[in-house]
Amino acid sequence: MSEVPGNDLLIRGGHVVTYDPVIGDLPQGDVLVRDGRIAEVGPGLAGRAPGARVVDARGRLVIPGLVDTHRHVWQGALGGHTGRVSLMGYSNAVLGGLAPHYTPDDLYAGTLWGALQALDAGITTIADWSHNLTTPAHADANVRGLRDAGIRALFLYGGPGEHGPGFFGLPAPAHPDDARRVQAEHFPYGAGGRLRMGLALRGPAFTTREATERDFAFARELGLPVSVHVGMAGFPGSVSVLDELGLLGPDVNHVHGNQLSEREFDLVAASGGSLSVTPSVDMLMALGTYPATGEALSRGIPLGLGVDTTTGTGTDLFSEMRIALAAERSRANAGAVGRGESVAEVALDQRDLLRTATLGGARVWHLDDEIGSLTPGKRADITVVDLRAPHLDGYGDPVTTVVMGAGPADVETVVVGGEIVKAGGALVPAVADRARDLMHASRGRLRTLTADAREHTAS
Ligand SMILES: [Zn+2]
Repeated sequence: MSEVPGNDLLIRGGHVVTYDPVIGDLPQGDVLVRDGRIAEVGPGLAGRAPGARVVDARGRLVIPGLVDTHRHVWQGALGGHTGRVSLMGYSNAVLGGLAPHYTPDDLYAGTLWGALQALDAGITTIADWSHNLTTPAHADANVRGLRDAGIRALFLYGGPGEHGPGFFGLPAPAHPDDARRVQAEHFPYGAGGRLRMGLALRGPAFTTREATERDFAFARELGLPVSVHVGMAGFPGSVSVLDELGLLGPDVNHVHGNQLSEREFDLVAASGGSLSVTPSVDMLMALGTYPATGEALSRGIPLGLGVDTTTGTGTDLFSEMRIALAAERSRANAGAVGRGESVAEVALDQRDLLRTATLGGARVWHLDDEIGSLTPGKRADITVVDLRAPHLDGYGDPVTTVVMGAGPADVETVVVGGEIVKAGGALVPAVADRARDLMHASRGRLRTLTADAREHTAS
């Protein structure tokens, strides 16, 4: 199925990092895009596509589009809201404080803006763990926000349905049955196209065993993959409980995993399930001491990165790559350093992290046949980073400078399914301007409402 027929696109002369095992790196290569897919990767392809739209990539790094495997996209308008909080503080401020005030319009505006934040940072695929769906209209607005942004996304239908805050606790109501309607209405053809669907489930850390069994049975009846938060400090009962209930499997995405035991990591590996680490949130919000990066990689567990909540972190995966790398080296060397020994060699490098943020993320969501590397035949999801700025114009490997120093402003061109969604360093203005207006209107409304609510409680 083609996404953007006709109109060849030629990304010319860049340092191309394909993560395709046969092609590898091309220090000066072209990527030819046709009918929404990667047609060819190689040197000197200009003659292959006369009349193609050309993107000059000389002095740029051309990489597969980044994959964010875990984000709450509806919070896109809430940046900077929870700078100095733990998971508990975040839950009170965002899930308890703001979420109940969200109308479908707010949800649409937050999701659209949040998806554009991701695209702006070179993220072409995002798994949207959506847990502020109080009515069917909220769910529709969420899907529309993702679709209108033009991002490739996995919409993970969560709670709370009509149950409100009581959804994440007792009396453990059923997962909203509206997911069935959304699947039928918005995803009638299953896999294919830019949007897919899964379920964002509470899991044993946030509900009862009985509810977990019901939730998983519901997902499997619908044939949808699931995602659960597991292994966070203070929220026991995760992978081992799923194992006891016989619920583990390759259709399960585990998020965080900081506090999992060795045995639990082994269980995830044996089940074929995946892991999403969110390095900033994992450490900033006290979910655990270190992200589970090394635990997953050493066992061959499909591993991806995620930004998670953007209310107290950045919005890009370059930051997550370098934080994950620093944290993993710190973890691995903590023993020796603690004994005052000098460490001769360090493990993991920047390229391992870029692979995790691209091909790794694609594997997490079983999309690696379609995306994750610049392989002919795959969907044309491509990110171009400008290397000519002082902080990225280095002596050695450009992947190292980009992983250690790049941010959203360095992302010059972003292509999703052959369609250019960011060009010359700017998002497509028609979408971005409308999204900004909607987001500001929503933010203004939320500020007024929450101020009124605070006054009401105080008086
Ligand atoms: Zn999360």
